[in-house]
Amino acid sequence: MVMGDLVREVDVAIAGGGPGGYSAAFRCAELGLEAVVVDATARLGGACLFEGCIPSKALLHVAAVMHDVEAAREFGLDYGPPRRSLDAMRTWKTERVVGRLARGLASVAKSKGVEVIGGRAVFEDSRGLRVEGDAPQKIRFKHAIVATGSAPAALPGIAAGDRVMDSTAALDLVEVPECLLVVGGGYIGLELGTVYAALGSQVTLVELTDGLLPGVDRDLVQLVARRVDKLFAAIHLKSRVVTLEQTGSAVAAAIDTRGVERFDRALIAVGRRAASDGLGLETTRARADERGFIRIDDRCRTEDPHIYAVGDVTGEPMLAHRAMRQGKVAAEVIAGRPAAFDNVAVPAVVFTDPEVAWCGLTETAAAAARRPVKIARFQWAASGRANTLGRTDGLTKIVADPESGRVLGVGIAGPGAGELIAEGTLAVETAALVEDLAATIHAHPTLSEGLMEAAETLLAPPR
Ligand code: FAD
Ligand code: NAD
Repeated sequence: MVMGDLVREVDVAIAGGGPGGYSAAFRCAELGLEAVVVDATARLGGACLFEGCIPSKALLHVAAVMHDVEAAREFGLDYGPPRRSLDAMRTWKTERVVGRLARGLASVAKSKGVEVIGGRAVFEDSRGLRVEGDAPQKIRFKHAIVATGSAPAALPGIAAGDRVMDSTAALDLVEVPECLLVVGGGYIGLELGTVYAALGSQVTLVELTDGLLPGVDRDLVQLVARRVDKLFAAIHLKSRVVTLEQTGSAVAAAIDTRGVERFDRALIAVGRRAASDGLGLETTRARADERGFIRIDDRCRTEDPHIYAVGDVTGEPMLAHRAMRQGKVAAEVIAGRPAAFDNVAVPAVVFTDPEVAWCGLTETAAAAARRPVKIARFQWAASGRANTLGRTDGLTKIVADPESGRVLGVGIAGPGAGELIAEGTLAVETAALVEDLAATIHAHPTLSEGLMEAAETLLAPPR
């Protein structure tokens, strides 16, 4: 490979074209900075669009429709047993959903004058990087933003095989295995476990800790736990997969609490690791921590004054909307604007059925920090809208400061929780008071009334 023939000079070079990278690039362009994005896949979208948020939510929608059709029997609608076509599902997910959004991002880039270069970015010093790949070139920059994201973490000592899938392989939906082992009861284990179970797999989930979604408030998790208890064939908590061997078309798993069990496929969903290896960061002053996450301050600046970092490669929470916000902050700081990633609340949504969403301070975190808080809960059994939907399996809760009445956190479990959490996020971010939520008129009958109802219970005089 002959490198260095072509040398580009730009204001901002961005390594990685996922939500963090493309948000940074678009904001740079809006602020009059020339930005190029170098992405190994030569397209914008990243893990989120091609192997994460979007394809998983497309398949979860399929699962939700199947559930709704089934549930409709209760009110007198019977469509008979579903006939599914995996080919049609894959085509819809890949071409109609992901493909459409990818074409949209490419056209936004074009209209803003953001160039996307295909290849791997490797830093050579604090002002330059080389692009390795089919079109090798060097880029000199005034500033660079590292937005290389994350990749699935492997289970230590467990070899990959075509039947031992990570989330990317699972989203390809090659087949619906009769028996599927899911290792990890976090976001991916629950979301993709739900998809496969809805499509007909017998799902066995193995989780290391003593509950699903570790760290999330138990009263919220309980609602989804009840549902997956019915949907999945088995859930083994406080359990560990010790070995996983693929022999022919089967996978034998040794589970410490169960012995050896056989499955048709396994999905490993035990977290994600930073994609910072081989980036040449050692040639710059930017530094990563012991887990490979690049250290940044609240302006997304690394220890190198020319290099910024955003998104999953900077650590948790590894969520697309955090990456996007950081991308915009980095662009604005580079443009000399007084921006900072000083958000109080980063909402989190697990798109199971029911969905689980939270933002700001959780009851669990408050207890761990011994911080006194007031908690209000509104059970959806008392919600008019939840009853009309036949979905009373929901809970809305508020975590408030007992002195000031300020809303510190909101948690919601129930269908549509992922949409409803936006109001809670706004309340936390704008330091709203419980009184503000109680006095705001919420349309009736809607699920959004839950937040108002919860707020009212906090204001009611003690009986
Ligand atoms: P990424 O999206 O990972 O993009 C990084 C890009 O950098 C990639 O395109 C990669 O090819 C490129 N790259 C890496 N190294 C180099 C290099 N050296 N040179 C050039 N290019 C490079 N988050 C949510 O908020 N909501 C969800 O519903 C959600 N669902 C998810 C479902 C799944 C199955 C998974 C796996 C993740 C999900 N996430 C979700 C997480 C979300 O995908 C990530 O938080 C988000 O993609 C991070 O964006 P990013 O820009 O930091 O990096
Ligand atoms: P996760 O951190 O959410 O969950 C991993 C789970 O695996 C944990 O419950 C952990 O206790 C368990 N675990 C770890 N080692 C284990 C072992 N050896 N055996 C059994 N269980 C083990 O990670 P994930 O589900 O892989 O998802 C990765 C990240 O991607 C998430 O943390 C999130 O940031 C992002 N994501 C977000 C969404 C969303 O926003 N809806 C969806 C999917 C992924």
